[in-house]
Amino acid sequence: MARPLPDILPAPWPADLPAPPVRTDEAVTRAAELLAAGGLVAIPTETVYGLAADALDADAVDRIFAAKGRPASNPLIVHVADTAMARSLAAHWPPMAEQITTRLWPGPVTVIVPRGPRIPDNVTAGGPTVALRCPEHRLTRRLIATLGRPLAAPSANRSMQLSPTTAGHVLEGLGSRVDLILDGGPCGRGIESTVVDCTTDPPRILRPGPITRVELEAAIAGPVVDMMAAEGATSAAARSPGMLPRHYAPKTPLEVSATAAERVAELVQGGKRIAWLTAQIDDPRVRSLAASRDLLVVPMPADPSAFATSLYATLHAIDRRNLDRIIIDAPPDTDAWRAVTDRLSRATTA
Ligand code: AMP
Ligand code: MG
Repeated sequence: MARPLPDILPAPWPADLPAPPVRTDEAVTRAAELLAAGGLVAIPTETVYGLAADALDADAVDRIFAAKGRPASNPLIVHVADTAMARSLAAHWPPMAEQITTRLWPGPVTVIVPRGPRIPDNVTAGGPTVALRCPEHRLTRRLIATLGRPLAAPSANRSMQLSPTTAGHVLEGLGSRVDLILDGGPCGRGIESTVVDCTTDPPRILRPGPITRVELEAAIAGPVVDMMAAEGATSAAARSPGMLPRHYAPKTPLEVSATAAERVAELVQGGKRIAWLTAQIDDPRVRSLAASRDLLVVPMPADPSAFATSLYATLHAIDRRNLDRIIIDAPPDTDAWRAVTDRLSRATTA
């Protein structure tokens, strides 16, 4: 018999309430019970939805890899309720990790530290380090505290597909492969955390994300190396096994263009059906092209954080329309746009 689809439990927690509503707390309790029994629960975080299992239960962690179709060589991020839990999972706690987490946790930054003995092999893909993060999302911190154990949680999508930023995206992508979905609303940040390796001095950014290099440098009052900028994506991928050049991709072919108006005009004239993601909606050329039946002009925010927040949700929505191609204006070459530029380069059709 086919497995049933998971329940989606609404779990709202209004910002002005210090404690969650009773129904939300009941949802957290049910999620914790499932996790304690070795189940898989999709959880909201401020970055993207995670596919969570008890990080100290190797069998439960194996289920994450199976549900995602994720290669065993790609290690998982372990989510903690606070810094004390993080320290309990590390063999030792580097001063850089202390500075970064004191200033930026809870938040969208993951630190790589030497792995402690409680972490099962499959979590780290057999490696000597572990990736740790304390999420900003209060619901998820409460879930971890209720369970009393850390959660291994990669993004709640099949491997190589677009990350989910709503409970609906999780249901669409994983269906009955997950036991329960906690619906904590749309993700506020919308792209995956910054990953920073604190086992080297200076620390190295293995994956750009919502916390920028400039913010990390301010936190440690020293330099931080951006590996992708320093070595290029392919070489950086060797250091962080999940950072394959193609990743995070929509089903519709995607192209980033520095001359998007010309490119869009050419494709539409060639009979292609196009979605154009652009912040230049007041440009007269955009206005005249937008009249075409074969072109969907999608206005995007000019601010990098707002752009990141809506990017995956926009790509999910466009994927449902079966268009021929997505064109996106090339973002500015600045620190604030690094994470968006990185994700777009991984989503680009060669
Ligand atoms: P995901 O959870 O799918 O967003 O991916 C987690 C990212 O963190 C991947 O790019 C992993 O390769 C990376 N990561 C997890 N653990 C480690 C580790 N111990 N060392 C380096 N990178 C890691
Ligand atoms: Mg992922």
